[in-house]
Amino acid sequence: MKIYKFDSIIVGGGLAGVRAAVEIASKGYKICLLTLLDKLIRSHSNAAQGGIQASLANTTESIGDDWRVHAYDTIKGSDWLADQDIVEEVVKLAPFLIREMDYWGAVFSRTDKGLINQRQFGGATYPRCVFASDGTGHVLMNLIESRATCLNIPVFSRRQALSLILDGVKVVGVTTLNLVNGEIEAFLGNAVILATGGAGLLYKETTNARTCFGDGMTIALETGLAQIGNPEFVQFHPTPMPPRYILATEGCRGDGGVLLNSEEKEFMWDYSSMKGNLASRDVVSRSMMREIVAGRGIEGFSTTHLWLDIKRLGYEHVATKLRDVYFLCRNFIGVDPTKEYIPVRPAQHYTMFGVKTNKRCEAYGIQGLYAIGECACWDLHGANRLGGNSLLETVASGYIAGQKILENLAKDKIQICKDGLVEDEIKRQETRIKNILGKKDGENVYRLFSEMRGIMSQNAGIFRNGQDIEIGLAALNKIFEKTANVKIDCKEIALNLELQLALRFSGMAKIALCVMKSALLRTESRGSHWRDDFPKRDDKNWLKRTLASFPIGVQEPEINYEPVKITLLPPGDRGYGEKK
Ligand SMILES: Cc1cc2nc3c(=O)[nH]c(=O)nc-3n(C[C@H](O)[C@H](O)[C@H](O)COP(=O)(O)OP(=O)(O)OC[C@H]3O[C@@H](n4cnc5c(N)ncnc54)[C@H](O)[C@@H]3O)c2cc1C
Repeated sequence: MKIYKFDSIIVGGGLAGVRAAVEIASKGYKICLLTLLDKLIRSHSNAAQGGIQASLANTTESIGDDWRVHAYDTIKGSDWLADQDIVEEVVKLAPFLIREMDYWGAVFSRTDKGLINQRQFGGATYPRCVFASDGTGHVLMNLIESRATCLNIPVFSRRQALSLILDGVKVVGVTTLNLVNGEIEAFLGNAVILATGGAGLLYKETTNARTCFGDGMTIALETGLAQIGNPEFVQFHPTPMPPRYILATEGCRGDGGVLLNSEEKEFMWDYSSMKGNLASRDVVSRSMMREIVAGRGIEGFSTTHLWLDIKRLGYEHVATKLRDVYFLCRNFIGVDPTKEYIPVRPAQHYTMFGVKTNKRCEAYGIQGLYAIGECACWDLHGANRLGGNSLLETVASGYIAGQKILENLAKDKIQICKDGLVEDEIKRQETRIKNILGKKDGENVYRLFSEMRGIMSQNAGIFRNGQDIEIGLAALNKIFEKTANVKIDCKEIALNLELQLALRFSGMAKIALCVMKSALLRTESRGSHWRDDFPKRDDKNWLKRTLASFPIGVQEPEINYEPVKITLLPPGDRGYGEKK
């Protein structure tokens, strides 16, 4: 039985997790990072393309930008569901965090004057997005990984966190499955930070990597104590490229690319008279689907799609400022974007929901537990995230959680938990695995997983209505019942993807139920949550955040609400001129 002890444990080695680790380790505390992958750099943050928002006002076009404008854009983007005190803190911190990374050696793209360059993104008043061509995530992951290496932060790779070890309502560690040798291990610490990224794999069509299962959310939810904030809010990005839904960054439109229908008409101005192609993602995705439903889509690439035209930007621009898109188009869909239009169709991209925390990233309901990055909801994005604000959130929440943990570590005593507690939790996980491996008859986990993803795309997608959601909820309930009876064909413990899925699947089904039930209850349209049967935003009844929990032993989520903090900008029009 392997038991490791540190001051704090970070589950997740993406940008959020590593940024927090750097903050804590730089003050000499013992911290470790756990990741599913073989290397930190392979975390999904690496795939981020377009950039990171900060009101530096470095370009001629962005003169006049400051934290207030960034805050107003974020609040309007969120359709007034973000907590405005958090928005204020994060956007004020943004310029510092960018300059810090610049100082550490991030190779950001530059203006002619040598300043950090900034590009336009959807929903932003000024070009504010700091970028490194369209490989911003790759550059930042390289940077932060090298900081972690300099600080000698131990990385335990190929570990799947399975459960939180609780002493009453206090977390004392996590159990993990060592994916290579099949051992169950425990990592103990005074604080546990969940930084496991989003849950895009709940949906059939997604831009997310094959690691975005939402594990942090599920292990928190499965304690019966934690809460998921705003589960009904899921972002669908306008320009993934079918058939695989690899993303073409919003930077394509930020730099001047446009969306076209089958008549080669630039249709977005018909739907958003003030922002056109650069309205927020929820508005653009809905408008695109309306064009498709109206019969102005194009058949091909295994679906009905629209076009993204960036050839108008010219070879030089595409090959330098959008070089990842240039590469991805040619190598994955066989299109040369300097000569041809790119096929695009909206698909799941980001989870605004996550483990609900307060302003200091401390999870509701469990002492010592923190959540940061896409896995958390604290709540910066409300009903819709603006592009570039997620990378910002990873480094901001990593920094803020790190500061809070340092404060606590300075006064906390070494954690002592009840005798046998850790060993019992390890045994519980071993028994779980034994039971799954020992089952001869039962449900095929891949089939259930695929069914669940189909239901989510079909019944909790871009356009929703009460009847479809009810159908989705009933179907998910059936799947959830079957999760207790999952059997797998491959009987190895080590290197067994089927077992890994079986271990996380009942938690995923619980999250899916939270999404579906919250979507049913929210009888209004706000941000990414569109109800055909309730097409208006309803501030009188719904200016509140959903909190979903799953108490132990119950069969469906419990839904509660809390008020949203309005400290800067009272609810009003989003300013996109959206035609509904
Ligand atoms: C294609 C694409 C492009 C994007 N471009 C942008 C952009 O330009 N700007 C922007 O602001 N945002 C962008 N985003 C969003 C942004 O990249 C992500 O929200 C952000 O990087 C998430 O970072 P994270 O650290 O929270 O999680 P991740 O980077 O996803 O890291 C999660 C980590 O958790 C680990 N993990 C997961 N489960 C477990 C487990 N059970 N046990 C142990 N470890 C586990 C993983 O191995 C990984 O190390 C983009 C997203 C996509 C999909």
